[in-house]
Amino acid sequence: MDSFKSQPAPAPSLPCAKVYLTFDIEPDYARTDSYRILDRTAPFFEWIGQEQLPATAFVTGQLLENGHPILDSLQKAGIPVEVHGYSHAAETFGDMHTSHAEEIDKGTEAYLRRFGQQPVGYRAPCGIVSAADIQLLAQLGYRYDSSIFPMRRPHRFDFTHLPHHPFRWEGTKLVEIPFGLLTPFMPAGLTFMNLLGPRLSAILGRYQAKRRVTAPGSNSVGYIVDGHFHNLFHDAEALQRLPPRLQWVYRLSRLQGGLPSLQKTVTLWQKAGLAFGNLQQDALSMNESRLPLVQTKIFNHE
Ligand SMILES: [Zn+2]
Repeated sequence: MDSFKSQPAPAPSLPCAKVYLTFDIEPDYARTDSYRILDRTAPFFEWIGQEQLPATAFVTGQLLENGHPILDSLQKAGIPVEVHGYSHAAETFGDMHTSHAEEIDKGTEAYLRRFGQQPVGYRAPCGIVSAADIQLLAQLGYRYDSSIFPMRRPHRFDFTHLPHHPFRWEGTKLVEIPFGLLTPFMPAGLTFMNLLGPRLSAILGRYQAKRRVTAPGSNSVGYIVDGHFHNLFHDAEALQRLPPRLQWVYRLSRLQGGLPSLQKTVTLWQKAGLAFGNLQQDALSMNESRLPLVQTKIFNHE
């Protein structure tokens, strides 16, 4: 960290690009029925505590309902908890035209039972969110959604027409904060960063984060990084339950990925002058009345 201190500070006239580390807490490898990886996360919490790095977690309703011990680890680390659907049934989650009302309702109720208060932030499993979902989230009093990958995923969604900066869904108070990208076709997700390795990930992320435009009403330039604990830790038994193609993706990603890779990337970003933010805190302090508006009819584009 000494080398960080010796770096020149960013020019004061430029907005400081802020990185938001976010983690989706869900079944192992997003599509199994096991949660073994969540028991291996102690080194992550140790590191994030030592570095005092802010992070935000999006947790499935099932884990909230079962009172999984990972919730205590998150709370102890001061990591805000938001909702990540309920069951995370990746294979049958539909597309951007599917209503996920039951997933949203059950996830919200589980949060309410666990914490005794309404959740403020939501992230759709697999980035699959629809116009009906947006309306429901707004009705339920959610303040922000962080589900949009501003790109196309065949048979799932096409959000290439959406802004890359925070905006508000027209007719609602709901703020949307899209994910960052590494390239126009690759999101800033740890799954991809593990494949690229820390040096290339840090270069691409730094370039993209610094060219982000601040939207009026948003108080920072947000670059959201999407992570999972299965990007940081491994479980051979859970991996065996995946389709062969996905098994190979995760095997390959272990060559230069995992927790040490994220640690290296974060250090490189710090050296480049990027700051790290608390997504929940910054989302709630945005002036949503000044954010650009987007209509949900954008969902009819596909
Ligand atoms: Zn997920």
